Amino acid sequence: MDLERIKEKLLEKRQQILSSLEEASKADINEKTGVEDSADTVTSELSRETHYRLTQADLETLYLIDLALRKIENGTYGICEECGAVIGEKRLEAIPWVRLCIDCSQNEEIVRTFQQRSEEEMLYNIIPPTIGEEEEAKNQQTE
Ligand SMILES: [Zn+2]
Repeated sequence: MDLERIKEKLLEKRQQILSSLEEASKADINEKTGVEDSADTVTSELSRETHYRLTQADLETLYLIDLALRKIENGTYGICEECGAVIGEKRLEAIPWVRLCIDCSQNEEIVRTFQQRSEEEMLYNIIPPTIGEEEEAKNQQTE
């Protein structure tokens, strides 16, 4: 395994994320200074939510990249954190900051999908219903 090449890939991706985060924070400032009318509030709340999630994902990747770089330094790179198995070279080439072998990550993904689904349900619940539905919802609540 060519650790130097992997290290290069990691650093490149790291730089890419850092500059995209920088742009995202600039966009945030623009958004705050912009004047919004109330009709746009819902849409912009939603896009902010999506944007926030993207940022979270980037930050997570950034964290994983730093972790991988540290592992290269101390010679534990490419070993599954969960079961200690050696992670396949192809897998590392595809996602150099991967922490788990295929088996363990499949288990993790099942948990993640489940968590994500309940988050989406929560998001759905905070979207205000349209006026007609709102009336209906009120009636249901009083029953
Ligand atoms: Zn494993």
